[in-house]
Amino acid sequence: MSWSQPAQAASSHLIENRWDDAVAARLSAPQLLLYRSNLLGSDKRITNYGGGNTSAKLPGKDPLTGQEVEVLWVKGSGGDLGTMKLDGFATLYMEKFRALERFYQGPASDTVLVPLYAHCTFDLNPRAASIDTPLHGLVDRAHVDHMHPDALIAIAASADSRALTKEIFGDEIGWLPWVRPGYELGLRLREFVRANPRARGVVLEAHGLFTWADTSKACYENTLDIINRATAWLHERSRGQKPFGSITASPLSAERRREVAAAIMPLIRGAISSNSRKVGHFEDSEAVLEFVGGEKLAPLAALGTSCPDHFLRTKIWPLVLPFDAARESVDQLAARVRPGIEQYRERYASYYERCKREGSPKMRDPNPVVYLVPGVGMFTFATDKATARIAGEFYINAINVMRGAASVSTYRGLPEQEAFDIEYWDLEEAKLQRMPKPKPLAGRVALITGGAGGIGLASARRLMDEGSCIVLCDIDRDALAAAEGSLKKQYGSDVVSTCWVDVTREDAVSNGFREGAWKFGGLDICVSNAGIASASPVEETSLATWQKNMDILSTGYFLIARQAFQLFKSQAIGGSIVFIGSKNALAASPGAAAYCTAKAAELHLARCLALEGAPIGIRVNVVNPDAVLRGSRIWQGEWAQQRAAQYKTSVDELEAIYRERSLLKRSVYPEDVAEAVFFLASESSAKSTGNIINVDAGNAAAFTR
Ligand code: NAD
Repeated sequence: MSWSQPAQAASSHLIENRWDDAVAARLSAPQLLLYRSNLLGSDKRITNYGGGNTSAKLPGKDPLTGQEVEVLWVKGSGGDLGTMKLDGFATLYMEKFRALERFYQGPASDTVLVPLYAHCTFDLNPRAASIDTPLHGLVDRAHVDHMHPDALIAIAASADSRALTKEIFGDEIGWLPWVRPGYELGLRLREFVRANPRARGVVLEAHGLFTWADTSKACYENTLDIINRATAWLHERSRGQKPFGSITASPLSAERRREVAAAIMPLIRGAISSNSRKVGHFEDSEAVLEFVGGEKLAPLAALGTSCPDHFLRTKIWPLVLPFDAARESVDQLAARVRPGIEQYRERYASYYERCKREGSPKMRDPNPVVYLVPGVGMFTFATDKATARIAGEFYINAINVMRGAASVSTYRGLPEQEAFDIEYWDLEEAKLQRMPKPKPLAGRVALITGGAGGIGLASARRLMDEGSCIVLCDIDRDALAAAEGSLKKQYGSDVVSTCWVDVTREDAVSNGFREGAWKFGGLDICVSNAGIASASPVEETSLATWQKNMDILSTGYFLIARQAFQLFKSQAIGGSIVFIGSKNALAASPGAAAYCTAKAAELHLARCLALEGAPIGIRVNVVNPDAVLRGSRIWQGEWAQQRAAQYKTSVDELEAIYRERSLLKRSVYPEDVAEAVFFLASESSAKSTGNIINVDAGNAAAFTR
């Protein structure tokens, strides 16, 4: 959406009233607060992910005395308004909360006051009260909303935001100068409400909007009305404006943009992942392309973002990577990545040095989060995919704010000391310290071939359980779609990507890796697993059968490994390749010469690659399964019948036969193979390469030597 769109589009910018009286009639007062919160939070035009909060002061029954007391229901720490449930609200006795004022000793009192909020808890509610609690508790109104709508922040981040607020809203909406969120701001809000009893809300400079009313419905409608008035005003006033200057870089075609992203993102990822691995997200929506293509890109980006939430998500500034797509090659752009990141780190370190205070937390990761490339779009990187995507969404909010502010006034970022004080707030640091230890594969990306099959899908699940993102490749479209559906249901759609790949085709293989590169920013783990099986006496084995085994199990593994090597080399942070071999690669089996020979070639390829990869940190290992019948599609076809004939038994009896044949007398399942895949993919096996792990319940003929 663009503020400079034609007038007839104006109404489409306005937020529709989604309050349904029939739904509301069935809800209790706390549920009405939740209903309002979900309605507001699920629209990104109203507030950003995890941003904003809502509250209601409601009567409640004290569990000990049975007496009616006033309870503050306010969105608690963490979570997101759009998706929160009732347990996302903190509940505080208003009487106790009011009594906290005696601990106030001036603007820096939050370190003392925030831990005391827990002492006001009503009904043993475990949800922690957030730093924004006083912005609700101190405002003497029954229902309060605090939102971060782009249109309002555009006004709040304009050089003359006070005058603009007055021009749009007259005396209905007040204006308060920037004060960091916390108790002090709560007091200022209280003072404002007392002095302006008729006001419907207040704009907070460089921050957002506060609105209030007597009921949940009235509060919702008031919030919407104020946002819509600002949106309409801004739209009208910015008509014909060019807030980003004239276009200096036209967008490349969608396909070309992805190609460039796939080439550049692994370079960025490699440069910023030395301490902890990062996952990338690529965004090339109209809003982003308009901003990165404008002549004012560099100066506007340098001003930094303004809403306090943004600093924590996006850092104070993005990194602009200059690119003249019409005249320059991707190699020229690539050459700018490392120097650009190094300069950014230096700039960030001097910002830290300039702004740090006594007792500030140590400097955090100095790498950029947001990368802007003219004609191409925006890359964002974080330790997991959802955080990277959300950082991108936040920067789109920042772009919308800059577009609006620069159309009607001069955009102003927050002074860097204020930005720093939010970024390095000790309360924020404490939150970071409380975060659970990352999973072993957090920030990792794995590509799995034959991923829709038994062992491939079990491996995907195992790696995802440990925090990895997955690019699932298979030749069978239907099976791939079913696998995708089931993984997304279990792990969410951020972390799964699928791609049709025939491992015998060079173009399809490079396409699969490109997909991983632009979807997640690169790759750490490659599980080469695609396979078939065939069995026939050698004199009856056709050349086509022989060739098919060689194509998939030998050439296919070469093509996949070659592409993985190229990508790993461009990232320059090593990598792990796991081949799914077979017991038959080591121990010959009668009547399956084509399969056994192709698997033996695959095994030797792994050893050769282990030699080549070691100097650059690429490990190559093999898992040799045997007789994994459950879940395997190989065992649903001809192979099972041929094997049954070989052992003079029925297909149903096969699993028992293999189990009894094994040394440990146990069946082998896809999850057992996946466990070995996880070990070889993870840092637990950081010092192993050229190895084979047999997962076959014990088979003396296949002992490695
Ligand atoms: P599976 O049939 O369930 O899975 C194999 C997958 O590979 C299938 O989804 C199939 O569509 C895919 N595939 C086939 N040809 C492909 C191609 N050209 N390009 C891309 N994908 C292709 O079988 P599984 O048991 O899960 O086998 C996985 C691997 O394990 C294979 O390499 C197999 O040789 C090996 N293996 C399996 C067993 C066993 O008993 N199941 C034993 C030893 C080795």
